[in-house]
Amino acid sequence: MNTLYFDNNATTQVAQEVIDCMLPYFRDYYGNPSSMHTFGGKVYRKIEEAREKVASLIGADPDEIFFTSCGTESNNTAIMSAIETNPEKKHIITTKVEHPAVLNFCKHLSRKGYQVTYLPVDSKGRLEIESFFRVIDNDLALVSIMYANNETGVIFPIEKIGELLKGRKVIFHTDAVQIVGKLPVNVKNLPVDMLSLSGHKIHAPKGIGALYVRKGTQFYPYIIGGHQENGRRAGTENVAFIIGFGKACEIAAKNIQKEVHFVKQLRDKLENGLLKNCPDASINGDTENRLPNTSNMSFEFVEGEAILLRLDEYGICASSGSACTSGSLEPSHVLRAMGVRNTAIHGSVRFSLSRYNQEKEIDKVIEVMPEIIKDLRLISPFGRERRIEKGCTS
Ligand code: PLP
Repeated sequence: MNTLYFDNNATTQVAQEVIDCMLPYFRDYYGNPSSMHTFGGKVYRKIEEAREKVASLIGADPDEIFFTSCGTESNNTAIMSAIETNPEKKHIITTKVEHPAVLNFCKHLSRKGYQVTYLPVDSKGRLEIESFFRVIDNDLALVSIMYANNETGVIFPIEKIGELLKGRKVIFHTDAVQIVGKLPVNVKNLPVDMLSLSGHKIHAPKGIGALYVRKGTQFYPYIIGGHQENGRRAGTENVAFIIGFGKACEIAAKNIQKEVHFVKQLRDKLENGLLKNCPDASINGDTENRLPNTSNMSFEFVEGEAILLRLDEYGICASSGSACTSGSLEPSHVLRAMGVRNTAIHGSVRFSLSRYNQEKEIDKVIEVMPEIIKDLRLISPFGRERRIEKGCTS
């Protein structure tokens, strides 16, 4: 059975070009980039080339980028650096809908005595920016706000927030893991001090990330040891993965305009088909301002997990923000923060696309989904409630 993969916000297929350019760095060029010999020096130069490619994708200078093990480490590093370099300040502002890589780290810091403000979102998942003014104070060390939400794809007004912080001695970090490579990002026009990236969301392998730190920003390393990465992240470099990440960024930069159009058109076809053919279906999140590859839909009165299991029988991979499949038993904190009805939260499914999806895969989902939803409504307790609501007794 073919796999029809619609879970690209969870992780992506590694591009063949990426694999090809990584292999020699396991097999042939295994030198340590810090070594004095020519063999190591060759590897060092390749890492610098990869750094240039990552930097170029977001309009940064290469020396503003260092490599980490993942987006989570980049986020943790940015937050720790901000509080280490501002030890007298104890206030952090973030949002209610961050990825756990920020949210749980902030919860950890609040147990250590930091005051954390979680900004709300509205029913479309948009940041309530007015609430931001009210919470800025002189104790503020850090604002960490994601650029695009992983569950809904909703994009936050990072430029506007940066403008509001102008003139204040506050570090502004954005978790850009989901947007980089999917839409153009240019730090030259983006008033952030730090920005997190992750390789496996853009067709590089899992286990490689990067942090952008704007020139002049005070920085304190999170992983302390050797002098690697200019003293900003110790540990012998993950050479092959760094080179693969560089390649993935190069490909993304070259194709971004074309791919935005391609995935958006497939995503819109998928949504229109499902909205038309499945009763009580709706889209979660601001459809005006979201990632082109992401669709978060609710099929009310059924459980998202049951939908996923039935889709899985056709080889279709999607995800649900609501429970076990996302590794947690809690309903999605993002949809809850948006005030989505419980019956809709439980019936939510996220489809996230990539350049490797095809139109015939979309057709397959549109074909099988109405039957799946109909079947599940007959057996689900939510479905029974709905039939009673609508006056059906059978
Ligand atoms: N931030 C966001 C918005 C994400 O979606 C993810 C992963 O899903 C991460 C951070 C964590 O990235 P990584 O898996 O590379 O640690």
